[in-house]
Amino acid sequence: MSVPLNDLKRAALREREALHAALARVADSGWYILGEEVRRFEAGFARYVGVTHAVGVGNGTDAIELALRALGAGPGRDVVTAANAGGYASAAIRRCGARPVYADVSEATMCVDAASVAAALTPATAAVIATHLYGRLADVAGIAALCASHGVPLVEDCAQAHGAARDGRRAGSFGRIGCFSFYPTKNLGALGDAGAVVTDDTGLDASLRALCQYGWRDKYDVRVAGGVNSRLDELQAVVLSLRLAALDERNARRRSIARRYSERIRHAAIAVPDASGDDYVAHLYVVRTPARASLQAHLAHRGIATDVHYPIPDHRQSAYAADRQRALPVTERLAAEVLTLPCFPELSDDEADRVIEACNDWRTGN
Ligand SMILES: *Cc1c(COP(=O)(O)O)cnc(C)c1O
Repeated sequence: MSVPLNDLKRAALREREALHAALARVADSGWYILGEEVRRFEAGFARYVGVTHAVGVGNGTDAIELALRALGAGPGRDVVTAANAGGYASAAIRRCGARPVYADVSEATMCVDAASVAAALTPATAAVIATHLYGRLADVAGIAALCASHGVPLVEDCAQAHGAARDGRRAGSFGRIGCFSFYPTKNLGALGDAGAVVTDDTGLDASLRALCQYGWRDKYDVRVAGGVNSRLDELQAVVLSLRLAALDERNARRRSIARRYSERIRHAAIAVPDASGDDYVAHLYVVRTPARASLQAHLAHRGIATDVHYPIPDHRQSAYAADRQRALPVTERLAAEVLTLPCFPELSDDEADRVIEACNDWRTGN
């Protein structure tokens, strides 16, 4: 493909010298797990999000699992979440022994909203997970108010929304716990797996720190049940500190590509997203079309890579076919219509213009 969906090498080459120096510093230090670099990144990331605590963990799925464990989710309890967000939250919910209960999403945001969450709450609900899908903040204030009125904790899945802000508050600062992935393709990405949980609650911070390291409060002293081993490496932390400094600038570039697309793609059969606000950091640029296969084939023919995020909603996954779930009409319609176009900070204006031109040239039915 001559216009790739993403190309991680472009960023790595651009920051080559600083990256290699940082990696060498850690290699030379002789300290690789939970040291100075992890502490430095945790402090910097908490400050960036606007919360008091950040705990580095192994990946974003672990971040959600540990958040749920810290909030008491487990066997016999339900966790409400979206079914159109790639299945990560579902895996985390099942891993801690709880049951996922799906809320439908809104047409406008493609995220869960207060009304759909209210319809999915059960007496056994231990937590609600709101996913800021594709980099767009959900109606998180409305969902937080609903959760507060039911006494149910809100967890934000911010794996696609690093830096997305509304009224000066960033993703991860609205719920009891915010969960982040630093998988290489995310807006803030490591050179491998990494993640973090953030919170303003000092008690939860202590539980999360214990849970991610065998349940230890102090070395070899297990005080918290359900502990696992899920730590952020020093090597990844040093990369993340370096890249955190460039996050706002790279998000601005993502947004400007997204705006260019939304302003210039003009086709009766392609619905483009609103890319105008700070509450969207353009993790993925996702259009909707009733003739997806035709558009995808047309773009491939022009050398433009696309993907579908995500083709099978969680409640339709065959491994869990025995689970009975509520009907999710919007989720199902979206799964059939969404298509992701190339959008990453190092994409050039020329490449973006080729995508726009190819979309505008598409003849439906071909
Ligand atoms: C990537 C992602 C995760 C999981 O992160 P990993 O680090 O890959 O485990 C969770 N939720 C969402 C919405 C994601 O996009």
